[in-house]
Amino acid sequence: MKTAALLIAALLVPLAASAGRVSNKDYDIVTLAEGVHGFVWRDPSAQVIEGNALFIVNERDVVVVDTGLMPASTRRMIEELRRITDKPVSFVVNTHWHDDHVNGNGIYRDAYPGVAIVAHSNTRTDHIEQTIGPRQANLDKNEAGLAKYDEWLARGTDDSGKPIDEARRKRIVDFLASARADIPALRSVKDSPADVTIDSRLVLERGARTIEILHLGLGNTRGDLVVFLPKERIVATGDLLVYPIPFMFGSYYDTWPETLGKLSTLPADTLFLMHGAPQKDRAYLEKVQALLRDIAARSKVAAATSLSVEEAAKQVDLKDWQSRFAGENVMRQREFDAFVAQAAVPRAIRQARKEEAAFTQQVR
Ligand SMILES: [Zn+2]
Repeated sequence: MKTAALLIAALLVPLAASAGRVSNKDYDIVTLAEGVHGFVWRDPSAQVIEGNALFIVNERDVVVVDTGLMPASTRRMIEELRRITDKPVSFVVNTHWHDDHVNGNGIYRDAYPGVAIVAHSNTRTDHIEQTIGPRQANLDKNEAGLAKYDEWLARGTDDSGKPIDEARRKRIVDFLASARADIPALRSVKDSPADVTIDSRLVLERGARTIEILHLGLGNTRGDLVVFLPKERIVATGDLLVYPIPFMFGSYYDTWPETLGKLSTLPADTLFLMHGAPQKDRAYLEKVQALLRDIAARSKVAAATSLSVEEAAKQVDLKDWQSRFAGENVMRQREFDAFVAQAAVPRAIRQARKEEAAFTQQVR
């Protein structure tokens, strides 16, 4: 996921503690195999959407998968890693370019000066052009957007004229306080894009440990990597698989199901997700795969009409899927609308029509 969703997500969900402070209750350290430890956020829909991390401790060094969004989170990850081992981190792998997976790179580089940062070549480009380039302008926009909520509080009504009750007022006040703490923290991120790029496969042999870093095809982004430990039968999925609601901004809906199929056939017993708890079976993966197939197929039908993208998107009704993913949970229903229906359908239609704008992130 990425910060574009930060403000949307913030008003959808009950508010956690300010992300500037990370408490031990916010995450668990989960041991998946000897020397393989996950840093797993407990609430995958928390106010600021953070990414999990994986620590792979080898004979002489450590390989880390993904580096977190907020500087305070990355510092906490490194503290936890140092509780586990004093071995140095020699490789960081970025599964894709979204800021909750790459923002902590610079903190790792400072903490472990010898570290090599590995990403798909498209991820390096997108990290530089889409995360680093527009960051300050995006944060300016987010900051300016907060004024609206100040006005709501002053007036006592929202934009539709609906009075703001006590519970909602408290949610808004808490949201404003944490957003105003988070924005300067995000402005201060010290970037460090990948200095080792791969296009399909890199294998790290670290003593007895084999670590396969694989690009399986277009999916969530044009540069997703998964990290597979064949002996331990563990695979870190990146955001090819996000629980409980998939995140589908700027993705490749046509090819993503096939990429998930390749992920599914890797001989692994544990899927380590970067959002959500580790999974022991393929049930959720297959559900996301079926959703994606349906989005691609129905968007193609809508694309074949003469309607505008906006009107055609209205023809693709995902309500049945929304209830399968979100049930009666209103917060998850809204997330499904924002992260799946509104994010995926118009772009899938543009992709089906081969409109250039939908291919600005085309693979090299
Ligand atoms: Zn993410």
